[in-house]
Amino acid sequence: MKKVVKFGGSSLASAEQFKKAARIIRADKTRLYVVPSAPGKRFSSDTKVTDMLYSCYGAAIREKNFTEQLHAIKTRYQEIIDGLKLSISLEKEFQIIGENFGKKAGRDYAASRGEYLNGKIMAAYLGFEFIDAAEVVRFHEDRTFDDETTNELMAARLNESTGAVIPGFYGAMEDGTIVTFSRGGSDITGSLVALAVHADLYENWTDVSGFLIADPRIVQNPKAIETITYKELRELSYMGASVLHEDAIFPVRKAGIPINIRNTNKPEDKGTLIVEGTCRQPKYTITGIAGTDGFVSITVEKAMMNSEVGFCRKVLQVFEENEISIEHTPSGIDTMTIFVHKDVFEEKEQQVIAGIHKAVHPDHIDLESDLALIAVVGRGMKATRGTAGRIFSSLAHAHINVKMIDQGSSELNIIVGVRHDDFKNAIRALYEIFVETRI
Ligand code: ASP
Repeated sequence: MKKVVKFGGSSLASAEQFKKAARIIRADKTRLYVVPSAPGKRFSSDTKVTDMLYSCYGAAIREKNFTEQLHAIKTRYQEIIDGLKLSISLEKEFQIIGENFGKKAGRDYAASRGEYLNGKIMAAYLGFEFIDAAEVVRFHEDRTFDDETTNELMAARLNESTGAVIPGFYGAMEDGTIVTFSRGGSDITGSLVALAVHADLYENWTDVSGFLIADPRIVQNPKAIETITYKELRELSYMGASVLHEDAIFPVRKAGIPINIRNTNKPEDKGTLIVEGTCRQPKYTITGIAGTDGFVSITVEKAMMNSEVGFCRKVLQVFEENEISIEHTPSGIDTMTIFVHKDVFEEKEQQVIAGIHKAVHPDHIDLESDLALIAVVGRGMKATRGTAGRIFSSLAHAHINVKMIDQGSSELNIIVGVRHDDFKNAIRALYEIFVETRI
């Protein structure tokens, strides 16, 4: 049995948090590979070390004095080292970092130092081997990720190790130039390590007890999801729910390795298990609810539209030519509605309208903004009668007018469009009917 454990920034923000992480690792001998993030926020108004590094490097490239900013970062690490009573010194590392900042070594190099230094401390504290991610995570010259070489390098290097710390978030090109993933990318590193060592489980330790059924900023104390499939997770993440970096799913999914989201501050909680498939019945009919605000609908109306071959294609082509991605396209006999993101559409609004007029000569085009889309997702919906009925009656009881309905052919989700003002109430109403009432 082999487990890969990744700890997020808030789980490693201070010496106290480091101690909790180490206790978790030591409690299970199969937790052999550790992927740390950079120190995150210790309290809500705190600054993440990654952000401190970006801003310090910003000063360096503007040729401003960055000594003080770098010193503040050094202090963050020194406090952790002191709190853990370690005898290591990062003096030399900071000297090199300072020199490289002066030589403008790159923004990615700058940001990567957060994970690199945290990895050094973690390895010393655990007595594990430190493996620099620059050695085992490879990027192409165009800065895209090289999955094949990474997997080869990692498998060869890690399989000879019994207890290693591999910093998250970055890697390097063949010539050694450091490249990072996008923000939150340590999740990806954890997943790559799990794939390379054929781990039985990828544990992702964070500050929540798993993936929640609904957004805690909207629903008070929502329950955590016990088991979720990759497909369900994708649906919910796409609609705005976030715990894990989206690109972290692919490597482990491909190898059938489950991910367990756990809470460093509450290790007794089981968290959420993310799996390829499961015969475990979900506790509720739905697995989760997620939603995103900021959509516009464009309704194109033309008498006898449905008998005009190629009508939809011509309309959609206008969006394609304007590089606007489409979310949903519900249609009626003589109408077709297109849902798009408002911020992308707004800029090109007039070109799109003119384009549709030219392409299909509609009778009328109607725009409606400030819409929100909500996805009710659940593998259990397929086998349950009345889910749609419950969704709409709960929304009706909450006095919410449904603007659009879309049930995916997989029967894994039902998406409803509502007005922006109804967005939060709609999510609360849905949570109540499916989780709290549970009839
Ligand atoms: N430290 C990086 C960030 O703040 C990467 C990570 O934490 O995953 O985005």
